Amino acid sequence: MKCYVDAMEGKDKDAVAICIVCGMGVCLDHAIREDVTIWEGGYPFPSEKVSKNIPRILCPACYAALKGGK
Ligand SMILES: [Zn+2]
Ligand SMILES: [Zn+2]
Repeated sequence: MKCYVDAMEGKDKDAVAICIVCGMGVCLDHAIREDVTIWEGGYPFPSEKVSKNIPRILCPACYAALKGGK
């Protein structure tokens, strides 16, 4: 899989992760790792079932939407 963000800019870069929200492939430069334990609204996982920090990879678009969506 190729990095979607780079592909949009005409670049060809291998993805190293997948955004858990939209499923977009992202390279190291564009993957944003979010380690917040509890996410508002329990999205995308039911928050009561996730008590430990787990790596959650977001693409820049989803990160911006989740962080600045209010
Ligand atoms: Zn995304
Ligand atoms: Zn990229």
